[in-house]
Amino acid sequence: MAAKSTLRIPTPESATALLSRYLDEEGLNEDSLLRAVDLIQQRTEVFLDDALAEVRDTAGFESACAAGCGYCCHTLVSVSPPEAFFVARHVETAFEPEQREALKARVLAYAERTQGMDGAQRYVAREPCPFLREDDWYCGLHTARPLVCRAMHSGSLPACRKAYETRDATVPTNTMAVFFENTKAYMSAYVSALRPRGVAVYPVELSTALAIIWREPDAISRWLGGEDLFDGARMGAREVVRKVVRR
Ligand code: SF4
Ligand code: SF4
Repeated sequence: MAAKSTLRIPTPESATALLSRYLDEEGLNEDSLLRAVDLIQQRTEVFLDDALAEVRDTAGFESACAAGCGYCCHTLVSVSPPEAFFVARHVETAFEPEQREALKARVLAYAERTQGMDGAQRYVAREPCPFLREDDWYCGLHTARPLVCRAMHSGSLPACRKAYETRDATVPTNTMAVFFENTKAYMSAYVSALRPRGVAVYPVELSTALAIIWREPDAISRWLGGEDLFDGARMGAREVVRKVVRR
């Protein structure tokens, strides 16, 4: 008889309850929000380690992913605004001024160039995520990378290579749905825990959201104060689903 699963998969309800409790205790401000993102990312890493161990045992799944393998990083990255603010802070604090300015310029150029393109169109055009380092294909954000990127585990490097070489974003990469349950739960939690606190929150495209954050003075305090800052970066529901499922 197969062993009973001990994997605790977050649901939108459990993730929302967790984040709401945290915000009740800590209050909602810039510092508490960015700490929440950090905590959620740490929990995500623990969850993914457990999930990978489980699918290895139960389904023989082995992740083919490794640093420097970036075929999958040629599509749209959807995040929640708190994650975008977290990335923005990372860019401000983790890079030397010259590197930072070059990176910001790259993100802004990408946002402009890819405006209106969905994930499949970016894939066909081989538009690399602006954080994918050109020389070695390492993720330039690695420790701060969004939930959707953390969830990506393919069971087949040849499939990823084939998808890239043929520019066909529909080639199945033999991933496991369970990896994305955590992402979906916390993306949902950001919405459900923050909206009742008067914050305009919905999934956004990362580079456009960063362009808004860098353009608007006091973006985080204005957004926390209820201003709807991210309409220009808003993702359609269809696009969010496609992104989550394909990856
Ligand atoms: S998902 Fe595919 S392309 Fe991305 S790191 Fe894993 S094996 Fe490489
Ligand atoms: S943030 Fe990093 S992991 Fe995510 S798509 Fe960009 S380069 Fe790839």
